[in-house]
Amino acid sequence: MAILKEAKTMEEKVAEHYVNKVYRTVIERNPGESEFHQAAREIFDSLVPLFAKYPHYMEQGILERVVEPERMIIFRVPWVDDKGKVQVNRGFRVQYNSTIGPYKGGIRFHPSVNASIMKFLGFEQIFKNALTGLPIGGGKGGSDFDPKDKSEGEIMRFIQSFMTELYRHIGPDIDVPAGDIGVGAREIGYMFGQYKRIRGAFEAGVFTGKSPAYWGSLGRTEATGYGAVYFAQEMLKGRGMKLRGQTVVVSGSGNVSIYAMEKAQALGAKVVACSDSNGYIYDEKGINLATIKRIKEVERKRIKEYVNVHPHAKYTEGCSGIWSIPCDIALPCATQNEIDEASAKLLVKNGVKAVVEGANMPCTLEAIDVFLDNDILYGPGKAANAGGVAVSALEMAQNSMRLPWTFEEVDRKLQEIMKKIYRQSMNAAEEFGYPGNLVIGANIAGFKRVADAMIVQGVI
Ligand code: NDP
Repeated sequence: MAILKEAKTMEEKVAEHYVNKVYRTVIERNPGESEFHQAAREIFDSLVPLFAKYPHYMEQGILERVVEPERMIIFRVPWVDDKGKVQVNRGFRVQYNSTIGPYKGGIRFHPSVNASIMKFLGFEQIFKNALTGLPIGGGKGGSDFDPKDKSEGEIMRFIQSFMTELYRHIGPDIDVPAGDIGVGAREIGYMFGQYKRIRGAFEAGVFTGKSPAYWGSLGRTEATGYGAVYFAQEMLKGRGMKLRGQTVVVSGSGNVSIYAMEKAQALGAKVVACSDSNGYIYDEKGINLATIKRIKEVERKRIKEYVNVHPHAKYTEGCSGIWSIPCDIALPCATQNEIDEASAKLLVKNGVKAVVEGANMPCTLEAIDVFLDNDILYGPGKAANAGGVAVSALEMAQNSMRLPWTFEEVDRKLQEIMKKIYRQSMNAAEEFGYPGNLVIGANIAGFKRVADAMIVQGVI
């Protein structure tokens, strides 16, 4: 076992035997889907103490049911590129669990997208959404379309084709997508436009992460990054530490990363490095965020451009080297499995105090073990990056009311939600005998909310 070192009691041994049995069926039913297996392993291991204390979850077969998506849609996305050539991509939507609300989860456009990545993200999303305490089920979607180096026209045509199939599966009370890697406000705008055109109705609540120009929530763009830093603040507070004065390394330079850097800097931390999928920059004076925003958000160029503006900074090709930079706090905000065991050991050797996941599953199971074994504060993505989907749920609430909230109001609610997620996760960890272990705490707290609702809804 990875997360749970060994079963402590006879009850835990029974529960461990049970989760291993269910896990084996997951492997058999989903061959070759390594990311999905990894996400399932982490969650299953964490649930052993819960099943040991409350065996009725095992008797009700909740785990067997919850690990199987309610449905998964896979579809062809044909489109014509600027040279007049037909291109074909594959579209996905996994509608994982609708027990506590409409399916909710982002859409990712990246060449690596496949069924395994969709399922890992969708499975995680169920429990993350439950942790927010808001009425949202779990889902995820995407395509292996690569938006890099595509023209505006190509991106729009691809999205219009993508939505021409997806529109029939979504709706404000059915399934509410948002952004993820490769999908920001521009892409959401094209998706919403095509959805509205086909449906012939203005249903603002069908997407979140919209531009505030047509009822997107203020503060949604910032929510995941800000939320992760609020979560980090709570974790540090728990050990009598502050963010002010800490040295921070943030991977990525996309939506989550930029706003994690912004909030960390606003709270007095010094951010010295960030990256993209080609390499990373190190600026010992502290990253100039205005330059990053211009390069990545406005010009949509590569991070290495930074050194042209700030020649004292250093650019290095390759992503994983960023974890060799000594720091107090590491915020992985790019993609899955970006911190492996070797990078984790390096971070620990260089004195890292906290690792807080802005991205989904950025640490391998072995890396998580390294942090837990060395008593490093470790904030799992399911809890730490839940601020994005929480503000998405607030966007849905505003769309239903047809009334917008101010940025300050949304940000205040976000802070409360992040504190509550932290408290809930810590309390669950304590209650089930693993004090301070936020992986076990977050997984149990999220799972329990969904499982209890599943039980009262009958065998669904
Ligand atoms: P963006 O597309 O805005 O940014 C992603 C960043 O990560 C980019 O800098 C990108 O570099 C880099 N990146 C992407 N893939 C890789 C890779 N294979 N190796 C190294 N770097 C890579 O995405 P987001 O910021 O929205 O998402 C980042 C992470 O946060 C993802 O794990 C996502 O699932 C998670 N997340 C996002 C939420 C949101 O609200 N957006 C909510 C919760 C979690 P490049 O520019 O070169 O592609």
